Amino acid sequence: MATKAQYVFFRESLMRWHREQNDRSLPWKGERNAYRIWLSEIILQQTRAAQGLDYYLKFTRTYPDIRSLAAAPDEEVFRLWQGLGYYNRCRNMLATARFISDTYQGRFPDTYDEILALKGVGPYTAAAIASFAFDLPHAVVDGNVYRVLSRFFAIETPVDSTEGKRIFASLAQELIDADSPAAYNQAIMDLGATVCTPAAPLCMFCPLAERCAAYRQNLTGLLPVKEKKLSVQTRHFNYVVMRSGDSVWIRQRKEKGIWQDLHEFLLIETPEAATLKQIEKEIKQLTTARVALRHIGSLRQRLTHQLILSEFYEAQLSAQLTVPDTEGFWVDISELQRFAFPKTMVSFIAAHLHG
Ligand code: SF4
Repeated sequence: MATKAQYVFFRESLMRWHREQNDRSLPWKGERNAYRIWLSEIILQQTRAAQGLDYYLKFTRTYPDIRSLAAAPDEEVFRLWQGLGYYNRCRNMLATARFISDTYQGRFPDTYDEILALKGVGPYTAAAIASFAFDLPHAVVDGNVYRVLSRFFAIETPVDSTEGKRIFASLAQELIDADSPAAYNQAIMDLGATVCTPAAPLCMFCPLAERCAAYRQNLTGLLPVKEKKLSVQTRHFNYVVMRSGDSVWIRQRKEKGIWQDLHEFLLIETPEAATLKQIEKEIKQLTTARVALRHIGSLRQRLTHQLILSEFYEAQLSAQLTVPDTEGFWVDISELQRFAFPKTMVSFIAAHLHG
């Protein structure tokens, strides 16, 4: 059972380290503008900071305030987002920008409950905006915070269980320095990112080591505990670039999922890796035109829950065809850059169609 003295030690040691030693630098650190904090948090969900940085700079340059983002055409915003994946985030971001622009006349809401009610904003992002922009005492709980707390207090309840989420959220809230919530939240996340790292934490240099239960009991490798191991599903995508003269066939994905609303070439998903003959058979079922099919490349893409193995084929057709049950259309190759595509497609287009 944690004692009051432990709480005080934790808070004071962490804040001292933050003032005197924390030198982690991030472009959005110390930011007080709610719009920019929100943007950085949305971009960083499921994205590494190094990769997110370019996007954050691009977005803040192109859309300096929430009204300019709200007024931008969907297609332009999707193109800027291209490569970050998880397009639901982009859709929610746009919906929220427009909602704030209409409902709050472009002024970012300044209470925790109003922020939490925004589309695409969960408790972590709401606490980050509330504390960093408005100095409200709401504790952030992300992977770094789970790790530091579970180790310091030796809590073995799985961090991804309902019970664990409740325990850690309430502990984090009790620990927060109510006089400096922004600095406290930054400090604990930075400590988790730079000192109390997932593998090989730097306990020797940690301001919490003296009273850290995991360090003293040699449990750092066992904490935090997770209930579910991530299972990764392998999917086999066969993209067929159907060409007829200088035109190619594309379609907009309407299916719910990570690539909703983006464009793609003809996609044939197969349960196992397919052969050229199998793909050729599929195409021939669509048309009586002459078809010359060849394999032109492969791509691997690792998402959180999926490994996508994509094979690309080019099908030269003697005449344009209509693919049933799709709203696909033919476009000139020079026009392709007007359409937003998933990352795999962009690499492909750059390497094979424009080069
Ligand atoms: S002493 Fe080690 S395990 Fe404990 S909080 Fe510090 S870095 Fe993490």
